[in-house]
Amino acid sequence: MRLVILGAPGAGKGTQASRLATYFNCPHVSTGEIFRRAIKDQTRLGKEADFHISKGQLVPDDITIELVEQRIEEPDSQFGFILDGYPRTPNQAIGLDDILRQKSLCLDAAIHLDLSEKEIYRRLGNRRVCTICGAIYHLDSLPPKHPGLCDRCGSPLVQREDDHLDTIKARLVVYRQMTKPVLSYYKNRGTLLVIDGEGDIDKVFKTIINSLETRSLKTNDCH
Ligand code: ADP
Ligand code: ADP
Ligand code: ZN
Repeated sequence: MRLVILGAPGAGKGTQASRLATYFNCPHVSTGEIFRRAIKDQTRLGKEADFHISKGQLVPDDITIELVEQRIEEPDSQFGFILDGYPRTPNQAIGLDDILRQKSLCLDAAIHLDLSEKEIYRRLGNRRVCTICGAIYHLDSLPPKHPGLCDRCGSPLVQREDDHLDTIKARLVVYRQMTKPVLSYYKNRGTLLVIDGEGDIDKVFKTIINSLETRSLKTNDCH
């Protein structure tokens, strides 16, 4: 299964991508998570990414497209991947198409998790993430079993630097201007599945699986 998960910051992309990766037994590729790891490791990529991410801006397309190209060249991506938070610009979408075309592959679907802005603020304000494994929690809807500690690996949970109000506002402006056109890109190709992101995590997951199944019964736009 080759999927891209689209949606505003806080829409639930990371949460659902992680579940989909387990369900379809393929890697969860999150560009945001790759950048955060590089920032933590203080690599050259990390320093460049941090400059943009801390302001709520996108990391430039050339860097991001190359990063994704390398990642989906890796052996674990050969039979599928769940791309979370990529593409975020039409250029990135074209970049992905080029990469796949060279391999005679195509996307199964682009999933848009649709959420109101009010709910976006509620989700991002209370999001906590694991500093080591990247697991995602929410103080109300998905609290860890032990406050402040990751259920999966026991490491400390933190609020992301870019989950503060000013940066959230900047990210939403960027989303409207740069990323929304990507939705039209996939809609025009007939690969877009719009999913209501408002329900609880299990409900949203079931809706995604149902619409993927219905879709594959109806058509296969892939070839
Ligand atoms: P969110 O979960 O809030 O949608 P992500 O974890 O996906 O955020 O990404 C965090 C930040 O990393 C983004 O705000 C952006 O600065 C950068 N980033 C992630 N993916 C991309 C991308 N595909 N293109 C450019 N920048 C990206
Ligand atoms: P994104 O990757 O799109 O920025 P996340 O998956 O990180 O979004 O989710 C944002 C926050 O909302 C996290 O704290 C997560 O635990 C929580 N969350 C995700 N999906 C839901 C849902 N369906 N209902 C309630 N909270 C959710
Ligand atoms: Zn962890």
